[in-house]
Amino acid sequence: MDIKAILPELRATIETQRNELIETAKTIWANPEIAFKEVKASALLVGLLKKYGFKVECPYAGMDTAFRAEFTRGQGGATFALAAEYDALVGIGHACGHNTSGVASVAAALAAKTYMEKHDIPGTVVVLGTPGEEGGGGKVLMLKNADCLKGVDAVMMAHAIGGRRPNAMRAAPGSAASKWSSTGGRPTRRAAPKRGSTPSTRRYCSSTRWGSTASR
Ligand SMILES: [Zn+2]
Repeated sequence: MDIKAILPELRATIETQRNELIETAKTIWANPEIAFKEVKASALLVGLLKKYGFKVECPYAGMDTAFRAEFTRGQGGATFALAAEYDALVGIGHACGHNTSGVASVAAALAAKTYMEKHDIPGTVVVLGTPGEEGGGGKVLMLKNADCLKGVDAVMMAHAIGGRRPNAMRAAPGSAASKWSSTGGRPTRRAAPKRGSTPSTRRYCSSTRWGSTASR
């Protein structure tokens, strides 16, 4: 499949949900909730996923604000997971941009679902709502408590970074996210953290270790 050929259609789907997605990100921004207390943010993302036909398990992995959403089309095919982050930093709110990161992952999942339905592509899309990214290691707990990547062929996530250029991201060795991604997919490569993140992201966000490297 040529990803460049299908991007316009995926973008078009996201455009149809643009206002709803932006409103969700703005609401999460205006109501910052710290690690494992992301009650409103989790509920907003779960609400979107349910509205567009995902089956959602929440609470998940022993955490009230974690969730696992799933959409399956047909039989067989690959299982692809997107992680969504939505917690804020103590005292400074969403300096790491998780209000947009979580929504971006959900938007990607909704677009993938629509594409699979339209083109009758079998497979499963999973959204893993991962609380407590800011120092709490929510992803690690999800692996420990629920083996949340079992059966998943590949996993990725979106994370806000500085600048206007969109970049893909990958985990750096040694980070919690690396343990996560190397469990579900191939081992990660060494990161080159000179590109990508904003100073605030570099300073405050442990996601930097898996989000600071632009793909080439
Ligand atoms: Zn972050």
